Amino acid sequence: MTTTSPKSSPRALIVGLGISGISTAIALRKAGWTPVIIEKAATRRGGGYFIGMFGSGRIAADRLGILKGLHNRIPSPSVNYEVDRSGRRRPGMGFADLPNGPWMMMRGDVERAAFDALPEDVEVRYATVPEAIEQDGEGVTVTLRNTADHSTHSERFDLVVGADGLRSTVRRLAFGAPEKYLHRLNYMIAAFALPEDLPGLTRGEGAILVEPGRSFWVFPFADRPSTVLFSYRTDDVDAEFATPAARRIREVYGPEPLGEMMEAAVRVLESSDEYLFDSVEQARLDRWHRGRVVLVGDAAWCPTLYSGMGATSGIAGADLLGAMLRRHPGDLEQALTSWEQKLRPYVDAHQKSGVSNRVGFTPTTRAERVRRALLMRFRRVVFGSPALYRLIARSKQMRLRNEDLAAA
Ligand SMILES: Cc1cc2nc3c(=O)[nH]c(=O)nc-3n(C[C@H](O)[C@H](O)[C@H](O)COP(=O)(O)OP(=O)(O)OC[C@H]3O[C@@H](n4cnc5c(N)ncnc54)[C@H](O)[C@@H]3O)c2cc1C
Repeated sequence: MTTTSPKSSPRALIVGLGISGISTAIALRKAGWTPVIIEKAATRRGGGYFIGMFGSGRIAADRLGILKGLHNRIPSPSVNYEVDRSGRRRPGMGFADLPNGPWMMMRGDVERAAFDALPEDVEVRYATVPEAIEQDGEGVTVTLRNTADHSTHSERFDLVVGADGLRSTVRRLAFGAPEKYLHRLNYMIAAFALPEDLPGLTRGEGAILVEPGRSFWVFPFADRPSTVLFSYRTDDVDAEFATPAARRIREVYGPEPLGEMMEAAVRVLESSDEYLFDSVEQARLDRWHRGRVVLVGDAAWCPTLYSGMGATSGIAGADLLGAMLRRHPGDLEQALTSWEQKLRPYVDAHQKSGVSNRVGFTPTTRAERVRRALLMRFRRVVFGSPALYRLIARSKQMRLRNEDLAAA
């Protein structure tokens, strides 16, 4: 069966009901488009892990009506410790201590707020994936498969948006094999939410344990238990997936005893199936659109968790896409080209920081550990001086994290 799109309002297929996909649907709708979202999973995904939302994301989220559903879960005061396995601790610095720092929240908070801001008449089809994408001068024909009943049908759209994450099917169908675009940083992560605070920490207290090639982070919130992150270096990403996550964490962080805090966290992982265990990879493409197919969010650029900008850039990129479609009505190629031109320097900078910040998360070599120690010392000096603090807040990197991309 082939359905033809009405000519009055151009139709967009958005693949992926994550933060980027929902934000794009809202932005396109504001630009006069009719979005249809398909999602591989049978239901929405909630919960998850800590994310920090920087200024660019908050400005875009405000414009899209998402920000009103969010609140900053930052503890006050913000207390973080550098810890070791024996329980020794000294003052440390957390993500939220950054000048012009992010709002702290859960991935699920953003997903929920975005979903609540989605106009009710936007069609969402679950258990649906794209199987083939064919473009011609007039539009795109997409073969869609319902994974519940295995039926397929073809449908016409004016635009297809791949917001289907790092391992994007849209990217594979329209741009080519993943090996061409995915760059492994050779790190693995396990991230999940805790049902209660860890031993040795009270509500709102965070902790960081850094050892050569492996680290453990406790991200604190004011009003709910923390989330944790294990991050470690690997030489063989494929082999990592041969072992269940919790067992692999015990192997990598052993054989010595984990200590009270990590032990409690691994026990949560052992008894849960709500966690993320994945390799850290960036998508790197020279162009994010081909004809009438465009990629956004992790599918397009995935700066990685080490940049702290994935969700922020997903929302900001979606908002900018809507702005460009409004600025160039009836000229899709011009809108997408202008969108890429404006977005490219922003994304490049955050991808670079994703690679360099990795040293702050999980230093591996001796030189990296020294670099991290010097960085921490530098931050302590900066944060103790209001003048230096203001200077860093105005630095290029901080400006880029807080830029209003779609400002007229
Ligand atoms: C531990 C961790 C910490 C992070 N911290 C931060 C932070 O501090 N700040 C920040 O801004 N970002 C952070 N990020 C990154 C951020 O979470 C992601 O960049 C962001 O959530 C990506 O959203 P997305 O919508 O682009 O992709 P995803 O969240 O991957 O969504 C893709 C959606 O597409 C669906 N899908 C996949 N394939 C198909 C298909 N074939 N058909 C249909 N649907 C499909 C998926 O089921 C999913 O719902 C962090 C990430 C991690 C892992």
